[in-house]
Amino acid sequence: MSHVMNTYARLPVAFERGEGCWLWDTSGKRYLDAMAGVAVCGLGHSHPKFVAVLRAQVGRLVHTSNLYQIPLQEKLADRLAAISGMENVFFCNSGCEANEAAIKLARLYGHKKNVEAPAIVVMEKAFHGRTIATLSATGSRKVQAGFEPLVAGFVRVPFDDLEAVRRVAEANRSVVAVLVELLQGEGGVNVCHDDYLKGLREICEAHEWLLMLDEVQSGMGRTGKWFAFQHTGVAPDVMPLAKGLGNGLPIGACLAAGAAAQLFKPGNHGSTFGGNPLACAAALATLDIIEEERLMDNAVKVGDFIRAELARQIGGIKGVREIRGKGLMIGIELEAACGELVQQALDRGVLINVTVDNVVRLLPPLTFGTEEAGLLLATLVPLITRFLDRQSAPQAAAQTA
Ligand SMILES: *Cc1c(COP(=O)(O)O)cnc(C)c1O
Repeated sequence: MSHVMNTYARLPVAFERGEGCWLWDTSGKRYLDAMAGVAVCGLGHSHPKFVAVLRAQVGRLVHTSNLYQIPLQEKLADRLAAISGMENVFFCNSGCEANEAAIKLARLYGHKKNVEAPAIVVMEKAFHGRTIATLSATGSRKVQAGFEPLVAGFVRVPFDDLEAVRRVAEANRSVVAVLVELLQGEGGVNVCHDDYLKGLREICEAHEWLLMLDEVQSGMGRTGKWFAFQHTGVAPDVMPLAKGLGNGLPIGACLAAGAAAQLFKPGNHGSTFGGNPLACAAALATLDIIEEERLMDNAVKVGDFIRAELARQIGGIKGVREIRGKGLMIGIELEAACGELVQQALDRGVLINVTVDNVVRLLPPLTFGTEEAGLLLATLVPLITRFLDRQSAPQAAAQTA
């Protein structure tokens, strides 16, 4: 019996080694990685420059404490501010922690405005993490079930629906912020319309709310810009980051600007590990390499190629609802639950994911080339068409199975 708690439905495979977009399991079988550890390993595996930076930092200094100055943290905060236009950064270790910091900022902001019980508008199908506060902000009953009582102070509205947010603004004087993913990742790679963020910004301005953008999954070059909001011309007040930030070294960050940037004072928030020298060195190297290798341009090129090919090859066929996403954050929504595709792709040496039961999700490394994209499509497209054939002729499939 395993001594590891049973919190994951793990696939029956363990990886031993990785190189670029490829992983090898313990039996030596090779897999094309179209998941990047859930949008984490943007540089792919064992990137030589990344490895060299980590090796050097491990030999020099791993951890001190936020009791002391950490120059690498200062340097990383400067870099993040420069690429985002935000003012300052709180460092933590994960996406849920970055969102916890955002939620705490919103509450401080509310109390400063004399709102007794500050509330935050959150979205249906949102995912913000699995701590008690962030699962309360998350729009999935599956994530919340069994952990009641939920944290109070969240008002939920449908995603991509400005009218719903306006109605809340009229009715609820306790709201002080909106927390939203521009592209919902776990919720099914849901894309909002072009003017959604602009509309949210207008509502936030009118009611003095903070606009808080969870870019934990969509950030760090994944959509073809450093951050998804940079496609829109509208900037947030608060922005939680994690996943791709350290290319696999655990690091999260909550960026803030304007009124949100000066809320935390010594003693308000903290983290033992947050922003330690090793994690910061990893993030700085990640930023350097994304820039040097023009990986954001690659994400646009290869992402557009994959979506165009998917549209051409399976776009019109019965059972395919929509092909969507931005850059290398890609979703294929089918009409039927298709979780079985994950194991079938694994058998064929390709790592994919299915979220919300019926959306095939692809999050390849930002280094994914058109050659790898071709290999991915050559495996995935026949799997999807075969799956859909069986859906429409279940009896024939049962006979041949
Ligand atoms: C993954 C994710 C989180 C949670 O990150 P953890 O590091 O697992 O805590 C939060 N928000 C979004 C949008 C995510 O995709």
